[in-house]
Amino acid sequence: MSVNYKATISLPKTDFPMKAGLPKKEPEILERWEKLDIYRRHREQGKTREKFILHDGPPYANGHLHMGHALNKILKDVIVRSQQMLGKDANYVPGWDCHGLPIEWKIEEKYRAAGKDKDEVPVVQFRQECRDFAAKWIDIQREEFKRLGGVGDWDNPYTTMSYEAEATIVSEFGKFLMDGTLYKGAKPVMWSVEEKTALAEAEVEYHDHTSTTIYVRFPIVSTDAEGLDGARIVIWTTTPWTIPGNRAVAFGEGVDYVLLEVKAVNDGSLAVAGERMILAEALVSEVAMAAGIAEHEIVRRFKGEELAGTICHHPLRAKGYEFDVRALPADFVEIDTGTGFVHIAPGHGAEDWELGMKHGVPVPDTVDGDGKFFANVPLFAGQHVFDVNKTILGVLEGEGALLASGTLVHSYPHSWRSKAPLIFRNTAQWFISMENTGLRDKALKAIEQTDFFPATGKQRLYGMIDSRPDWCVSRQRAWGVPLTVFVHRETGEPLRDQKVLDRIIAAVEEEGADAWFTSDPARFLGSDYDPKDYEQVMDILDVWFDSGSTHAFVLRERNDLKWPASLYLEGSDQHRGWFHSSLLQACGTIGRAPYRNVVTHGFTLDEKGNKMSKSLGNTIVPEEVVKQYGADILRLWVAQTDYTADQRIGPEILKGVADSYRRLRNTLRFMLGSLGDFSEADRVQPADMPELERWVLHRLAELDAQVRAGYAGFDFQSVFQSVFTFATVELSAFYFDIRKDALYCDGDTARRRAALTVLDALFHRLTTWLAPILVFTMEEVWLERFPGEDSSVHLVDFPETPADWCDAALAAKWAGIRQVRRAVTAALEIQRREKVIGASLEAAPVVHVEDGTVLDALRSVDFDDICITSDIVLTGDPSPNEAFRLPEVPGVGVVFEKADGEKCQRCWKILPDVGQHPHPGVCRRCNDALG
Ligand SMILES: [Zn+2]
Repeated sequence: MSVNYKATISLPKTDFPMKAGLPKKEPEILERWEKLDIYRRHREQGKTREKFILHDGPPYANGHLHMGHALNKILKDVIVRSQQMLGKDANYVPGWDCHGLPIEWKIEEKYRAAGKDKDEVPVVQFRQECRDFAAKWIDIQREEFKRLGGVGDWDNPYTTMSYEAEATIVSEFGKFLMDGTLYKGAKPVMWSVEEKTALAEAEVEYHDHTSTTIYVRFPIVSTDAEGLDGARIVIWTTTPWTIPGNRAVAFGEGVDYVLLEVKAVNDGSLAVAGERMILAEALVSEVAMAAGIAEHEIVRRFKGEELAGTICHHPLRAKGYEFDVRALPADFVEIDTGTGFVHIAPGHGAEDWELGMKHGVPVPDTVDGDGKFFANVPLFAGQHVFDVNKTILGVLEGEGALLASGTLVHSYPHSWRSKAPLIFRNTAQWFISMENTGLRDKALKAIEQTDFFPATGKQRLYGMIDSRPDWCVSRQRAWGVPLTVFVHRETGEPLRDQKVLDRIIAAVEEEGADAWFTSDPARFLGSDYDPKDYEQVMDILDVWFDSGSTHAFVLRERNDLKWPASLYLEGSDQHRGWFHSSLLQACGTIGRAPYRNVVTHGFTLDEKGNKMSKSLGNTIVPEEVVKQYGADILRLWVAQTDYTADQRIGPEILKGVADSYRRLRNTLRFMLGSLGDFSEADRVQPADMPELERWVLHRLAELDAQVRAGYAGFDFQSVFQSVFTFATVELSAFYFDIRKDALYCDGDTARRRAALTVLDALFHRLTTWLAPILVFTMEEVWLERFPGEDSSVHLVDFPETPADWCDAALAAKWAGIRQVRRAVTAALEIQRREKVIGASLEAAPVVHVEDGTVLDALRSVDFDDICITSDIVLTGDPSPNEAFRLPEVPGVGVVFEKADGEKCQRCWKILPDVGQHPHPGVCRRCNDALG
């Protein structure tokens, strides 16, 4: 007979949906958090806690979020939330970078489109338009960031354009002015003639560029070296327009040079038979080829050091360039290309400038901000450097100075914004000295004291600081914090007076940095100085000085934060950006780094590992992922990724992430369904639990340590991997699989109560451990079990692990048990595949175990339950030949047997006693459960 016992079985009951529907669900949860004010509650919770401050590197307020932004902010949020749940007060204040060229450029583009000239718009009006532009994008980005689930003080973010920030930046800058670290210099800087400004290293990109190359003769007029009188030193350059700025020629002291006499030339060659020239020996054939020299004779070989004291004439001497050109030794001369001589124009190159400074070579001003030669430059006045090559080549040829010319495609600096090629140009600029007040040494020491994740970042930043030139902080732009300096008209000295500075700071605090542009200088100079004696500098500060000062106006000035930050986290390009400028700024003003830890992440590529770009059409924006899958899927992608390297994202990868998510969601759903039955009265102490439950508790203790260490070390990949593997392999495919029988079919047994107690422990840990990553889903799971207006998983800390959960001996024993189970499961799988049985409950295998200790272990537990069979026979007898063996489980043989008896209509076990109890068609356990 058949009775339907389904109603008597405790199947999981839950309204928690299998299908997530995150795109619809997440905004509801966000609204709930808004009401709950999680951020404020964290601060209340954190009042007595140690602070953990992740200081936000400000994104630039000029566009919608891209995947890099999403990765960055999600990583930060996982850190902030996990630190809070680890027991800290993790107060996160987001910020925005507002000043600078990209916004200025946007407004200028608008002007150009409207046929308006920027120079005719009052500077304050222009600045207001920039300010409005930034404010608009802050609002847009804020909403986009919030949608990703981040917790933080979104209502009171910091911005570099707030009046308070601008005043602090002026005040911080004043410290560099007052202590003499700041100086006014004439120095070649990377200059964009397109944007008419000096560019920072971080604003420069390198692209291939076709340059005209020239070989030029420099006639020797005086030398101590034997036989070189009347010969010509030959230089090679890829920038012919720098010839008017030439003031020296560099040689390598250890380089082998030759004095060469031309014997015969090819048709069209500019070389002349009989002329003598000096070249590096290694480059003779290259030059001969380029110059069409058919035959030559080496007259003399000598080392470069013999050239010391040699003086040449400028090749255009007859045309107004009437000065001597000295040959100077330099260690940067290379002999892999060119001639072994480097033409030195101190106004057009960093190495040129340094060599010139070392030997007292004057630095001429030859090129103006538009890229045109100044009026006092003979022959070329008023011509643009990018259009002048043909003229220069013609003049050089006319003077008999040009030996050969050609073209070369090479990597050349370009502006990252306008993509226009850059030039090195000598300008009056303001510099923060790396040496005057020991800034370099302080910064290098500060790097030593900072921890970097990954550790390679330390060496990277160290190398950059170690070799960097002085920091050029002036920009000839309009949208930024002004470089608030007065320069004495006669001495050229900057005015260093704290009283003046204080008046400027007070004005900026009151009216914003516009005050510098709108006020009469007398307002700042007071009665001590005559405004007529001083020139007011109208440059603005490098925006990297602004963002480098965020630690001052955010961490130091907000009393809910602290200085220095626990952590800075940004893309690895910020070694030369924000990490770098913040370090120099803080070392200059306070003497140490503004951070204790620096974490870097890589860049986001498409599925094939290509850079995302509009032209390739492979761009994925966060908004689309959120719309299609939900923010939690994006967050899960972040957690699954090794963020320290470049990561990939694309449709296939996201599908895989969504699949992991579904598996996890089902695990949690099962727990919710089963826990509906659990009440505090059911709680069982670990000592009273079956070993299987104690094994789960032991695993939880191990995982607790892993999860805490992972979060503390910012290694979310390991956190997620260990929790995910535990949930899907050890829980779903092992523990839950085994205990479904007890949970569904037992009556109110100790075994079932123990399982429920363990499920409760699992629930609290899995939801909290995953809450920093899957912020929305874990909240949904939590509320399903603990509803209530004030309820939130995000207000709970990671639960502590009771000391008695850890049991290493038990874990070792169960490692052995699970090994044997693997062999049994594999043996049954074969029978199932061959359709001998449908379910494992139809089996009652004989298991032969050679190792006596393992056999004892198996006998001490309900091994048939653990294998989900109706019965099992354990024996120490040697395995017969036909036994199934698994190579990785030696000493174990499994002989398949079908279970003996009838199928219990309630629990489906096949047992001999089925049908021998008052309730029809059931086993003893089910009969008892039915009461
Ligand atoms: Zn039964």
